[in-house]
Amino acid sequence: MRILLLGVLAVVLAAAPAGLALRVAEQQPGKNVRAAAQVVLLGTGTPNADPDRSGPAVAIVVNDTPYLVDFGPGVVRRASAAFRKGIKGLAVKNLDLAFVTHLHSDHTAGYPDLILTPWVLERKEPLKVYGPKGIKAMTANILRAYQQDVAIRLRGGEPSNKTGFKVIAHEIKPGVVYKDENVTVKAFLVSHGSWKEAYGYRFETPDRTIVISGDCAPSPSVIDNCNGCDVLIHEVYSQTGFATRTPDWQKYHSRYHTSSVELAELASKARPGLLILYHQLFWGVTEDDLLKEVRAGYAGKVVSGHDLDVY
Ligand SMILES: [Zn+2]
Ligand SMILES: [Zn+2]
Repeated sequence: MRILLLGVLAVVLAAAPAGLALRVAEQQPGKNVRAAAQVVLLGTGTPNADPDRSGPAVAIVVNDTPYLVDFGPGVVRRASAAFRKGIKGLAVKNLDLAFVTHLHSDHTAGYPDLILTPWVLERKEPLKVYGPKGIKAMTANILRAYQQDVAIRLRGGEPSNKTGFKVIAHEIKPGVVYKDENVTVKAFLVSHGSWKEAYGYRFETPDRTIVISGDCAPSPSVIDNCNGCDVLIHEVYSQTGFATRTPDWQKYHSRYHTSSVELAELASKARPGLLILYHQLFWGVTEDDLLKEVRAGYAGKVVSGHDLDVY
């Protein structure tokens, strides 16, 4: 038996170099040697106007191509800061594709900035946006609000390009909503209080699967879509801080958001390689305390995210 096993092992080892060589040879003619997908936290905040935490926005960067999720206030300046830190793909003029989880203002107040600022900074491509029903109307209304600015930049003597202010907005349904050579993006519904449509997204890249919850109360769809994913980025509020809130706010938060205790239970079922907390509501507790609350019920690897962290 042992001899047989050794024999099989020898065959496998003998075959391996040829296989490796083949893979290397296959890479030679292609221009893309695959780079690891990076998660760049652009904004980890909430509606609270914390100067250290911009509005919710995450960039998945694959082969120097950025895929944004949400555009809270500050999104373009945070992308610019990440570029200065060495994330080449986040040059402002590269920001031409975004997925929005839902239309709450903390996730979308950076939308006019994302439409207009990269255009002024020479983005020629129209912005492509994917999101729930209502994103088309929001887009049209923002462009209407800024029509004087757009007209002056187009025809008032500025040497502007004539395409980069345009937006192609897609209203999505659950399932695969986008695919290219770097990513397959799947949208799934999550439970976010009275919102009819709030999405989480699953990004499948050549080397990592990354899931982002968006805003939600505990949602089984997050567990199903992560299911051992490499990275789960999930919103959270402190259970201890929650106890200090008034009953009407407690009722609201428990319908719309996920507590540290609930997240521990959810992550134990979702089994991510890394759990990143974002959109944290601390309500007076420290970051260490929040992490302790999660770790009390979750044995996996967990970090509390900050703006401009890269994973
Ligand atoms: Zn939010
Ligand atoms: Zn929300």
